Parts: sequence; structure tokens; C-alpha cells
Amino acid sequence: MTLDTRAIHAGRDDLVDLGVHAVPLDLSTTYPARDSGAEASRLDAFATGELDGGLPIYGRVSNPTVERFETALAELEGCDAAVAFASGMAALSACLLAAVTQGKPHVVGIRPLYGTTDHLVASGLLGNFVTWASADLVAGAIRPDTGLVIVESPANPTLTEVDIARLVDAAGDVPVLVDNTFATPVLQRPVEYGAKIVLHSATKFLGGHGDVMGGIVACDEEYARLLRQLRFATGGVLHPLAGYLLLRGLSTLPVRIRAASANAAVLAERLTRHPKVQRVHYPKIGGALVSIEVAGDPLAVVSGVRVFTPAVSLGSVDSLIQHPGSLTHRIMTEADRGDAGISDQLLRLSVGLEDVEDLWHDLDQALQKA
Ligand SMILES: *Cc1c(COP(=O)(O)O)cnc(C)c1O
Repeated sequence: MTLDTRAIHAGRDDLVDLGVHAVPLDLSTTYPARDSGAEASRLDAFATGELDGGLPIYGRVSNPTVERFETALAELEGCDAAVAFASGMAALSACLLAAVTQGKPHVVGIRPLYGTTDHLVASGLLGNFVTWASADLVAGAIRPDTGLVIVESPANPTLTEVDIARLVDAAGDVPVLVDNTFATPVLQRPVEYGAKIVLHSATKFLGGHGDVMGGIVACDEEYARLLRQLRFATGGVLHPLAGYLLLRGLSTLPVRIRAASANAAVLAERLTRHPKVQRVHYPKIGGALVSIEVAGDPLAVVSGVRVFTPAVSLGSVDSLIQHPGSLTHRIMTEADRGDAGISDQLLRLSVGLEDVEDLWHDLDQALQKA
């Protein structure tokens, strides 16, 4: 079956037999059991990240609603398993801690990355340290203690694309983590190119309506166990209501991505001919994001829009615009932003589902005045 069909049914295949139409939302934090002896041995297994498919024990170990979201996203990404977290950064933290736990704290990073991701690996807050490399120089940056290669493609905020298969090849035995937040499995499934770890800020397209935060890592079962073990011990769990909303978001993901991408492609093409636009970044793979370098004051464009929402984040049904240098990538130093190719003139647009002519007129009037 195609991704369009599975996006609607994955994680819900048992609902007909259960006799329900909407996914059951289980808000329990704890689960009663009369046999504590049996619970004890199950808890021992859970502590190592194992899931036995039995009744849940405690909300920090597992939750049935969240598991449905995990099952669905794993399937859409073509992976054995997925592990959900409270946010995209909680998901990334678990991967970075996993590298430390495995005695391989060194990370090779390919810039640009999301500002807080860049900050988290560069600052060493979790005990990692980083070598920045361009995609074609990754092989030379790998060391015996390298635990991860981290890449975004298309990357936030310049939409730079990387040949994932070539990168995986260059990384050799080191697992490549692809942050697939921008492409989503609708446009790209990194495991098909050999990537071992696929991360999402589910806050963005997977939720799709700007009203739920979450993160998720799709991977093989062995790595999932390590992530569950870390999640159990550190507590960055996804709330069940968030799991419910994210699973619901998946059902419209393919239609939303296609409609938003069609709008974005039209805007990207017209923007290349706009006198106030110096450069347009739009990836070959397509998608809902367009970045532009403007001739005038970028902050005036942000304050001049009336249909676009002037806000950070992306992947919502409404169009958003923001200035990475001031907001999403502000936590990086100016020199690091320069190194990552993030110009002060750059604006990042997340194109939504409004009528494309309304979006165009809105951008045009804001650009004219800037
Ligand atoms: C937003 C974002 C993150 C962080 O996700 P949160 O859900 O905000 O924690 C990570 N990577 C990319 C590419 C993002 O856009």
C-alpha cells in the first residue's frame, strides 16, 4: 500500500476490531496490577528498553496512545521502530546522550543545522564535542570516538541539500542521523539511502497545526531500546494527548505537504523575479519552505505581512515568516552563522495552505515597503 493510505491507517489497524473509530486516548499515569511479582520482572526488562506488548505499568515507561504514533511514524519512515519524546530537542538530546553512553561522544556536524541543535553539540552541554565538516569532507573528520554524523537535508534555514547516500558511504561504520523535519517521509525517507537514525521535530509538519510539541526518532529496534532506556531514565516523554494529536496529524500529512509544496513552488518561482529579492533558496526535492535574501530591511518585511504569521516554527496550516538571524539561529555566534551560510538578509518562509494569490500579494506588498 502507498504512503497516502498508510498515513491514514498506520497505528490504527486494530480499531475496527476494537469497535472504535477515533483512537483511544489513554491519560493514565499509572496502571494497577494485583501481581507485583510479575510487574517486577517486567520492569527489569523495561529498564533495558524492551517492550513486551503487555499492559502498561507507568507513563514514563510507555503509553498506548503514544505507541500508536510511534508505530505509525516508524512505518512511514520504513523503520522497525520509533521512540517519541517531549520535543524535537528532547529527541536529539537522547541521541547525543546515546553517543556519550556508547563511549563515542564525538559528533561530526554538517552545517547549517537548526540553531539549538548547533548550539547543543557546539556547547558540549551533554558531554559531546563536534567537528564541523562539509558533506564531501566527512570521511576525514571521522575519528575512533565518533558516535554520530548529524545532517539536515534540506537544512534549516538555508534549505541546502546533501546527497544522503554519499554521506552514509563516507561515514562508514558511524551512524548517520538525518533530521528529516523539513522533508517529512512524504518527500524523502532517509533509511532508503542508508541512514540509520531519522529524527523529527514533530512540532512542525507531523502535528501540522501549530498546537502540539513533540519529537521522534525512527531507527532499528536495537537503537530504539537504547533510546527507550534513556527516555525511561531521563523522563523526556511525549504527553499522550500530544501523541493523539500527532497521530491525527499524520493522517493528513501527505495532502498537506503536497498542497503546501505546490504553493511554495509558485512563490519561489515568482520571488526569483521580484526586484526586492536578491536570492531565492528552494530545494530540488520541493517542500513547503522557501528562504529568500532580501535587498531591503528583512525585519520590515516580517512586520509588514498581514496574511503570513510573523512567528518562529514551521509546518503549520498557516504560512509563517521569520528572520533566522534574530530568532531561530540567534543562539549561534555571528561567526558560526557566517560559517553556516546564514546571511543577515535571509528570511525563512514556511508556506501554508492559504490561497497562493493571497500569499503572493501579501509578500509583494511587504517586500515593496521594506
Ligand atoms: C524545530 C526544529 C528542531 C527542534 O524541535 P523542537 O520540537 O522545537 O524541540 C529540530 N530540528 C529542526 C530542523 C527544527 O526545525
